[in-house]
Amino acid sequence: MIKKGTKLFSILKFKCPTCHEGDFFLSYPYNLKKIGDLHAQCSKCCLKFSKEPGFYFGAMYVSYGLGIAIFVAVFVANSILNLDLSLFNMFMTVGVILFASTPYLFHLSKIIWANIFFHYKGN
Ligand SMILES: [Zn+2]
Repeated sequence: MIKKGTKLFSILKFKCPTCHEGDFFLSYPYNLKKIGDLHAQCSKCCLKFSKEPGFYFGAMYVSYGLGIAIFVAVFVANSILNLDLSLFNMFMTVGVILFASTPYLFHLSKIIWANIFFHYKGN
């Protein structure tokens, strides 16, 4: 479906941004004990995932963008589907979605941030 070699492949499969084979995270997003923990380096190509200390603080900007995207999606769905939600109910809907998807969005923002700085190099 999504071809190896595209950034979307690395992002959605949580794979190393450079080789698209090694795992990026230690576990799946909803393992709350290891949430957001990533391997020090790729098991296949030995890429160090952290360029410098605090490298992934920048992922907060990506996380913010994802939150805005969810709000816009709820707003558009409200308009297109004629759900007629009040502003309060829209904020509640966004709040519930954000709360439920926080671990997934946390992983997503880190792998997107990594994909901004690391590029696919193939085999
Ligand atoms: Zn790799």
